[in-house]
Amino acid sequence: MASSDRVRVRFAPSPTGHLHIGGLRTALYNYLFARKHGGDFLLRIEDTDQSRYVETAEDDIMDALQWTGLTYDEGPDVGGEHAPYRQSKRADLYRSYAEKLVEAGAAYYAFDTEEDLAALRDEGVTYDLHTRHQMRNSITMSDDQVQDRLDAGADYVIRLKVPERETVRFEDEIRGAVSFDSDEIDDQVLLKSDGLPTYHLANIVDDHLMEISHVIRGEEWLSSTPKHVLMYEALGWTPPTFAHLPLIMSPNGGKLSKRDANTLGIPVYVTDYQEEGYEPEGLVNYLALLGWNPGTEEELFALDDMVEAFSLERVGASGVQFDLDKLRWVNEHYVRALSVEALVDRVRPYVEDAGYSASDDRLHEICELVQERVQVVPEIVTDNRYFFEDPDEYEEAGVEKRWKDASADLLSTYADRLESVEEEDFDADTVETELRNLADEEDVGAGAIIHPARLAVSGRSYGPGVFGLLATVGKQACIRRMRRAVETLG
Ligand code: GLU
Repeated sequence: MASSDRVRVRFAPSPTGHLHIGGLRTALYNYLFARKHGGDFLLRIEDTDQSRYVETAEDDIMDALQWTGLTYDEGPDVGGEHAPYRQSKRADLYRSYAEKLVEAGAAYYAFDTEEDLAALRDEGVTYDLHTRHQMRNSITMSDDQVQDRLDAGADYVIRLKVPERETVRFEDEIRGAVSFDSDEIDDQVLLKSDGLPTYHLANIVDDHLMEISHVIRGEEWLSSTPKHVLMYEALGWTPPTFAHLPLIMSPNGGKLSKRDANTLGIPVYVTDYQEEGYEPEGLVNYLALLGWNPGTEEELFALDDMVEAFSLERVGASGVQFDLDKLRWVNEHYVRALSVEALVDRVRPYVEDAGYSASDDRLHEICELVQERVQVVPEIVTDNRYFFEDPDEYEEAGVEKRWKDASADLLSTYADRLESVEEEDFDADTVETELRNLADEEDVGAGAIIHPARLAVSGRSYGPGVFGLLATVGKQACIRRMRRAVETLG
């Protein structure tokens, strides 16, 4: 652990585009760990790679954290003792550490030209302890030659000098003892010719200066860690504790990727979940389970309960498969937990986006009817369009099963009866009484009218309670739709 015993963790995204769902999970686990231990959670923007910089990405990241309630104690917009929290604003700082590494014999200057490097690539080899001896650098050049070049202002980079025949070891909280053969580690560029650091240098310098105690990040960074460990050692710093989270896998195999959005409908970016109407609490709850388990049967956790239950010991090392059904199942519980008023507010934009209109009272009625029947809020609209427009077709299987010879006459009479109900009396009780009276008079079961009525009004053979449905659709629309069904279905 770093200098003090205080738990300090960071989420350190590079602003290269929309925040990926895996990034949000990393942020969440850091957040949970910090809160659990009464520590600090930092947001640090790692924006030293100009070529991959996307201007809107930083806002996108902050919006995602805000939307999901993952509040941070220090960050670019909230400040903190170790400001600035944007690496581009700390650019001057990194060079001196690169030079210290050179002095410590753990890094070296390299003057290779683009052509030199291209030749290396053409050979299919990396710049490492096997190839560095054939390149133009301070290992192959005399001190005077190096100094001359530096004095002449030649372009150079500073590279990590990976030691030969060594095993680099570190403990990972999730994976246990991890070791890498130095033979397999390349001489990573630490300081680029434009004077800016690469991720590796800036990352360890900041983790040290910001007193980060635990580095919790995705498994894709595991192979970078031995490089980091070498730098910590050379600078005489105690490395933080590492914890590499399992990869998020596609149900089709391989890492979850943008492709899965198209082929499996799995949203990949946080903004997509937002647009598709997921509850932030539902998403966070699901992500908590995507790599961690509480060790009990319990699966539904509010953020505070997650904090209580969370531990890195219960995070698994092997890849976890994204399960959209499970996410939807979790989300459904958060939809049910909303007050009807809140649900009305949540659903209104989707109603308007679909080009429909409905008063608050009407939406209230609709929400009451279907709240328990949807998994994601927009389904209130997309699965129940009959509340907003006449059905333009009838579910085939439903017609086959439910539309009988007598249906047309019964429905037509029912429509006549409904004509005589006053608009203001058109509620679930009244339409039910009318229907049951008619069934008695005709000596048929209520189902002989209920099923055709539902088909006529909603186009489907299933849905919320039929009397509430009819009342909510309203008198005029019910009658119009019943007459139309009698005409089309005969
Ligand atoms: N900037 C890296 C990223 O984009 C941070 C990796 C780390 O947490 O060290 O994920």
